[in-house]
Amino acid sequence: MRGPQVEAAAGLPPRVTVYEVGPRDGLQNEKGHVTTAVKAEFVRRLVAAGLPIVETTSFVPVSWVPQLGDAAELLADLGPEGLGRNRPVLVPNEKGLDRALEAGVQAVAVFGSATETFARNNLGRSVDESIEMFRPVVARAREAGLWVRGYVSMCFGDPWEGDVPVGQVVDVAVRLNDLGLDQLCLGDTIGVGTTGHVHRLIEALDARGIGVEHLGVHFHDTYGQALTNTLAAVADGVTVVDSSAGGLGGCPFAKSATGNLATEDLVWALDGAGVETGVDLDALVGTSVWMAEQLGRPSPSRVVAALAGA
Ligand code: MG
Repeated sequence: MRGPQVEAAAGLPPRVTVYEVGPRDGLQNEKGHVTTAVKAEFVRRLVAAGLPIVETTSFVPVSWVPQLGDAAELLADLGPEGLGRNRPVLVPNEKGLDRALEAGVQAVAVFGSATETFARNNLGRSVDESIEMFRPVVARAREAGLWVRGYVSMCFGDPWEGDVPVGQVVDVAVRLNDLGLDQLCLGDTIGVGTTGHVHRLIEALDARGIGVEHLGVHFHDTYGQALTNTLAAVADGVTVVDSSAGGLGGCPFAKSATGNLATEDLVWALDGAGVETGVDLDALVGTSVWMAEQLGRPSPSRVVAALAGA
């Protein structure tokens, strides 16, 4: 197996932190049953491949996401490797936070929406109500010394509402951030964003006091824009980037559609540009090939496809 020829790209930061979401965002979309043991092995392999942050699971009600109903069992199986400030879990409300705290979690993420329709569909609440739901979650998490991330979904478009004004995204982001977040993550949940839009939003957030050092970005590849948009954000100075090993997390409505940005595709691009990630691409591809075997279908990642047989 080989990596790209390294030719440093101008204007990129020397190092980027890959925030791996495969075990959570990837597996929450899986139709087939994945055992807790396989999930634990997946997390261990990702950590061994050098992923600095791995979002492991989600303490949402089992009825919302049955695929991640084994969150407590998974963390018990992982032991100390599943805990720490670089092993965040999703929590929607105080009940989820209670379960996460009970499991010994030290980092959590709440997930808000830039649009009313998605807030209703995803959380059963308006944007205002969901921010009020997160308020005690963030306050209590911080009191307990936890690291807290907040996602904003639908930052670049919404399947029901269409275009989402940049000002609307910024307003929600500022309100969510004011709860006391350590990191704000901009999500292109349906993958419709393009590079100019990425620059606009980052610039608009900066003008409201949320600088690039406070941001993460989370792009989806539905329209083939995930890597381009991610590199646009990195060129603007964002140094925390979400991706999913093997591109796990396909759209539940279209069997072959790609979902999250594949970590391998991201690491190939960053390696080639001379941007350090600490990720061992060989070990990561091996992990995704192994995971694809567990799931019974090939990884949608182009880099995994290219390197797996190389
Ligand atoms: Mg995602």
